[in-house]
Amino acid sequence: MSEKDHTCDTERFCYICKRSEKQTGKLIKLPNDIYVCPDCMQKSMDMVNQGYFNNFDFNSTEFKNINDMMMNMRPQPEVKPKKQKAKKEEEKPLDLKELPAPHQIKAQLDEYVIGQEYAKKVISVAVYNHYKRVVTNTMDEIEIDKSNMLMIGPTGSGKTYLVKTLARLLNVPLAITDATSLTEAGYIGDDVESVLSKLLQNADNDVEKAERGIIFIDEIDKIAKKQNAHSRDVSGEAVQQGLLKLLEGADVEVPVGATNKNAMVPMTTINTKNILFICGGAFPDLEGIIKKRLTKQASIGFNADLKDKYDREHNILSKVVVDDLREYGMIPEFLGRLPVVYTLEPLSKEMLVAILKEPKNAILKQYEKLLELDEVKLDFEEGALEAIAEKALEKKTGARALRAIIEDFMLDIMYEIPKDDSIGAVTITREYIEGTGAPRISMRGTEVPKLTQD
Ligand code: ADP
Repeated sequence: MSEKDHTCDTERFCYICKRSEKQTGKLIKLPNDIYVCPDCMQKSMDMVNQGYFNNFDFNSTEFKNINDMMMNMRPQPEVKPKKQKAKKEEEKPLDLKELPAPHQIKAQLDEYVIGQEYAKKVISVAVYNHYKRVVTNTMDEIEIDKSNMLMIGPTGSGKTYLVKTLARLLNVPLAITDATSLTEAGYIGDDVESVLSKLLQNADNDVEKAERGIIFIDEIDKIAKKQNAHSRDVSGEAVQQGLLKLLEGADVEVPVGATNKNAMVPMTTINTKNILFICGGAFPDLEGIIKKRLTKQASIGFNADLKDKYDREHNILSKVVVDDLREYGMIPEFLGRLPVVYTLEPLSKEMLVAILKEPKNAILKQYEKLLELDEVKLDFEEGALEAIAEKALEKKTGARALRAIIEDFMLDIMYEIPKDDSIGAVTITREYIEGTGAPRISMRGTEVPKLTQD
């Protein structure tokens, strides 16, 4: 074949990744008319160097030609991510004797999460029961449902934060995913199993550690069944269906070090039986469904209540029952696998003020520490904190708004203060937050108020 023939018009594709030569750059020719792109070649070399193929017998008759070898380039599951039995002995992060009792778990959560007393209590008991069964290996024997949970609460009320704090306190890996990014397998988007790869990554590819982890699926309300779906509901009901087997416990093959399956990625098997699944969502409009049910119940019989009785009720979400969620569009099988259902309250002004100053890692404490490094004392008037909380309430994104608001105000302070060595203290006033005044500045050794706002 002449040189010209090599650059001929028929397009060639990489044997491994199937991309065309146009996309990959010049393909490398291997025996038997196989072409491989430089990327795949490099990956193959890397895998050889890392020992993925150590247990492959390339001279075996099974690999009669390069075709077979390429077809078998996907390493065997046992090769790299094997269950690290030896490590288990020394690590044992979840010893039953060390497993904190529910009240201890709650006490630890209290240090970080403000309010949400009921949610913290429920989660502490459910987590305790779950891990007790994991460590005693009685998940199958006991006829109690797995403690998978459904957490309902407004945006920014601390759902994700509660789960993150819990995973950190228990020292178990956590993967957070958004239900909106999940689709039925085979459609564009992540399939439901991709979250297991994330968990595995967060467990440093240690399968045993991952199998005791927590998976938080946020925005679960977004996969409610579409009421009048004319087309296939690939991102709603079908995703709920897809999640069923993960929730109850199944062996799932997942790629190691990547979230999608392809020929170049080694695979391993994760059993989801001991993984704790927590689903969270704001469930907008659920209040309407609950009110409708309560009003209907109350209007039957002699003691019929006034129709608008429940309109004035605060935190109507806490009266949710499984039927309301079914009406919302969650399928019964899915709800059946989330036996622990609880709600978080909307954050009040007082709670927002407490969030600013009380948690162990409170935002105010962080700023105070920063200015302390410049030997400047930072203070917030109570009125200033209330003003920040009021602004956050207006944004209707719960505590999420607090950081953005405070960062905005603190920018000038953090910029101006280090300019002047003689400043000894700064007090943030309500007027400064409301834009009608300035912070109070005290010079070292004196108490001279100075208005510095632009
Ligand atoms: P969501 O309920 O939407 O998942 P998040 O948990 O993400 O809300 O909350 C956003 C941020 O607000 C958290 O990172 C945390 O800093 C803060 N926050 C929310 N609720 C609380 C709370 N109850 N106590 C302390 N901080 C909170």
